[in-house]
Amino acid sequence: MSFTYQRSSALFKEAQQYIPGGVNSPVRAFNAVGGDPVYVEKAKGAYLHTADGNQLIDYIASWGPMILGHAFEPVVEAVVKATKNGTSYGMPTEIETQIAKLVVSMAPNIDQVRMVNSGTEACMSAVRLARGFTGRDKIIKFAGCYHGHSDSFLIQAGSGAVTFGSPNSPGVTAGTAKDTLLAPYNNLDAVKEIFEKNIEQIACVIIEPIAGNMGCIIPQDGFLEGIRELCDAHGSLFVFDEVMTGFRLAPGGAQETTGVKADIVTYGKVIGGGLPVGAFAARQEIMNHLAPIGPVYQAGTLSGNPLAMSAGLAMLHHLNSNKEVFTSLAKKTEYLHKGIDEALSSKGIDYQINRYGSMMSVHFTDKPVVDFQSAATGNNDWFKKYFHGLLEHGIYLPPSAFESYFLNDALSYADLDKTIHATSDVVGSW
Ligand code: PMP
Repeated sequence: MSFTYQRSSALFKEAQQYIPGGVNSPVRAFNAVGGDPVYVEKAKGAYLHTADGNQLIDYIASWGPMILGHAFEPVVEAVVKATKNGTSYGMPTEIETQIAKLVVSMAPNIDQVRMVNSGTEACMSAVRLARGFTGRDKIIKFAGCYHGHSDSFLIQAGSGAVTFGSPNSPGVTAGTAKDTLLAPYNNLDAVKEIFEKNIEQIACVIIEPIAGNMGCIIPQDGFLEGIRELCDAHGSLFVFDEVMTGFRLAPGGAQETTGVKADIVTYGKVIGGGLPVGAFAARQEIMNHLAPIGPVYQAGTLSGNPLAMSAGLAMLHHLNSNKEVFTSLAKKTEYLHKGIDEALSSKGIDYQINRYGSMMSVHFTDKPVVDFQSAATGNNDWFKKYFHGLLEHGIYLPPSAFESYFLNDALSYADLDKTIHATSDVVGSW
């Protein structure tokens, strides 16, 4: 059966007239793979229902948040209930303390958490806090890591920025860019060299502890541990951007799975249960520098919004009381990995599959994909053919090689088998 998307194309045509590029976030536009984006009408469990009447198996999960599947009942109910009491107050509510308390109990090495409205805000605020705490200006980030679209991070950024060929965005001033120092992912010597050339100037190192914005990239043994030691030796903070990995890999995120301790952690995606939420967290000594008790300013009219907090609390509560979800998701991801591996290996083409927990990516290259440079060696023509081939079979993969798959727990083994068979079919016809 071949799925078609005429109504999506018509909707996109109209959208382009009124919305820049037709979308409110660039990767949605399918530029990396060509063709028109798919319009969604509703979603339930593992499935997207498109404007064309197609039911697709979803491997994006809204880019991560829908870890338990779409329209997860306890989250929906919590939001509906909260909505009836008013949608925003701009005053403190008890639920903000409840979610903060739960986050602190689930994640290691943090005493307090501040809620914001996106992952971008969380990372931007984390870096400001690191600068305020250390009294230093410079930060180290890794090529191909994405920490949102705030100015300091649009230097060799991954995800949509690189998909669209603008890893360094116009509009970021030279003054801002000079304080962001770059290292290749998985290259500890490069980080060491930057530290040695910038003595007492580095406020923090910010990293995706498992990178998901250049495909899925796994930190090599000793890499995160080595950065931790360098940060300690130089009086700098280590910031884990857990916007993707937080509450996805384990209750304590990548801090738990890697055993490496971060000084500041940022969250997004899962923490909001699909509503616009981000958060940053740290130990008390660091958080004390934040307004209103400290001098580092950070605020938000809608921060801690009651709908968003209700969704997040229901989501985290479910994950915390059903910790087997993390193992079940990792098993499903491993099953998919093995199935796609077998399907591709029979074809004799070059590819790599990277996987960590419930994140994975397929790269059409003969080189191990360990950093941005190796991710960029992927053959995009094969990627496009694979993406569109699967879309025609009713399977929705991330529309760029610089993105990770996010599995959700509503996916059944039958869905995974369909995806594996579709892969065999698609590559069999090349
Ligand atoms: N950090 C990481 C690791 C991300 O993947 C993203 C978004 N994909 C962000 C930060 C920014 O989050 P948001 O899109 O919610 O601003």
